[in-house]
Parts: sequence; structure tokens; C-alpha cells
Amino acid sequence: MGVSFDKIDGVIWYDGKLVPWQDANVHVLTHGLHYASSVFEGERAYGGTVFRSREHSERLKRSANILDFEIPYSAAEIDAAKQLVIDRNNLPDAYVRPVAWRGSEMMGVAAQTNTIHLAIAAWNWPSYFDPAEKLKGIRIGLADYRRPDPATIPALAKAAGLYMICTISKHKAEREGYADAMMLDWQGRVAECTGANIFFVKDGKIHTPIADCFLAGITRATVIDLAKRRGLEVIERRIMPDELDGFSECFMSGTAAEVTPVSEIAKWKFTPGRISAQLMTDYTAEVQPKGKQAAA
Ligand code: PMP
Repeated sequence: MGVSFDKIDGVIWYDGKLVPWQDANVHVLTHGLHYASSVFEGERAYGGTVFRSREHSERLKRSANILDFEIPYSAAEIDAAKQLVIDRNNLPDAYVRPVAWRGSEMMGVAAQTNTIHLAIAAWNWPSYFDPAEKLKGIRIGLADYRRPDPATIPALAKAAGLYMICTISKHKAEREGYADAMMLDWQGRVAECTGANIFFVKDGKIHTPIADCFLAGITRATVIDLAKRRGLEVIERRIMPDELDGFSECFMSGTAAEVTPVSEIAKWKFTPGRISAQLMTDYTAEVQPKGKQAAA
């Protein structure tokens, strides 16, 4: 195990100021901790620039609004703060984690007047790109928990409370020797993984579930766009698990996962191939800061 995340050297942006890493703390009576009134983002900087920074900042603000609070910074201010964090910590290739939460003024279900806090941390996370290694694909299991009905929880927010079932499911998958788990939705249809979206390939066409009860990833949108630019057809539709036998390739998409081929989901097998490889390469080119893009 590496250094514990509360012990890293560096600075964290906290409510408008840069503070020493180990001083970026909250009180135990924080609403966010007890009632999950917390939203966050996961982003990546490549070559000193956060990929799709504005979209992530806007999604963060939207997630907060869904949880009935307002982050007291504009998307432009959040973008600037993220840039400051990666610059001051000298982290050109980093994972960037903004988190916003309700503070401690009221300690009960209602927390109408609680202060809204925002912190932004970043840590070193280079993107290792060894296509041959990645193309072997990862093995993932099938989660017992399902993505909930959007009528029961704000399913489209990137909110801490939605991740309780992801952590339980990923732990179980890891105990079973898998790298991750795929989750079905509340109606038993294929949904996504615990921190990434999922795609399949059949007869040269790409199929992915409709993102109406789980996070529609920014990487997912990027991959759909890249595929279309290659002239590939992308079909967003309902996918039942018994169809998985008919797909040749499978890959995951997410800020952390980027494009990661999948070779196995429980009893279903896939062979990472041409389309997964193409989209891995295209995604790597796409995330490079504009103006620094390597010649294709
Ligand atoms: N689904 C879940 C549950 C996630 O946590 C993530 C990662 N944020 C994604 C999908 C992919 O989203 P993105 O591409 O915006 O990182």
C-alpha cells in the first residue's frame, strides 16, 4: 500500500484558499459524513491540462443542485481552482478530486442553512498506456446490487450516497478474484460498472445501455463521439444480460479507467479486438492538451 491519502505532501484548495495537505480536515459532526450530503468529481489532468474541466465543474454544480444545495463558486472559478491545484503541486499528469459537502451548523436530516464547502485535491496518476497489456482485457464479476430506480434516489447525481453499493460490490468482486463488477439496473438490464460505463461490440457496431438510471460519463460521451468520427455506429439501447453471449468485444469507459477492454464478465467471455484497440488509441490522442497533440 502507498502513502495514506491524508498524509501526502502538497496543498489542497479548501473553501477558496490553498492549505497544507494534512490540514484539510472536517469536523466529525459534518452533515456530509452522517447524511451523505456530498457530491464529487473525478477528473484527470494530462500534460498540465484537466480534460473536459468545464464539463466536470458543471456536473459538480448540477449534482449539488440535485441534492438541494448550491456550490458558492462558478464553474469558471472551480476550473481556475483546479488549475491552481495542479500547478502549485506540480502535477501535470494527475487525478483531480473536487468534493463539495454540507457542513456542521445543523445536525439532523434537515440542514437548510448549513455552509457549503468545496475542496479540491490532486494526486499523481500518470496514464500508463501499454496497448498490448491493456488489450488482454480485465475480468469482472457481476454485482448483487442493482443501480436503483431513479424514483428512489437521485441516480444521475455524482453523489457520495450512490457509491455505497459500488464499494460493497467492488469488494465482493475483488474477493472473487475480479478487477471490478458490472451492475444491472433495477429492472435487470445491463447498466454500468462500479466506477465506469460499459460498451459492447457486435458485427462492427457498438452497443451501450441508455444512461437514464446511472451516471452518463463524460468519457462515455467522448468515446461515443470518437466512434462516430470513425464512422462506427453507436446504438444506445436496453441490453439484457442474456444477450451478452452475442457480443464479441466489451470495454469500460471512465475518467480513471479511460478505455479498458474487458475479457470476461462472470460467465460471459469477450475477445478484445480492433474496435477496442482503435478507441483506446483515439482516446489517448483526444485527452492530450490542444496544441500539444502528437501527430497521428
Ligand atoms: N459510472 C460511475 C458510477 C462512475 O463513478 C464513473 C466515474 N466518474 C463513471 C460512470 C464514468 O464517468 P466519467 O466518464 O465522467 O468519469
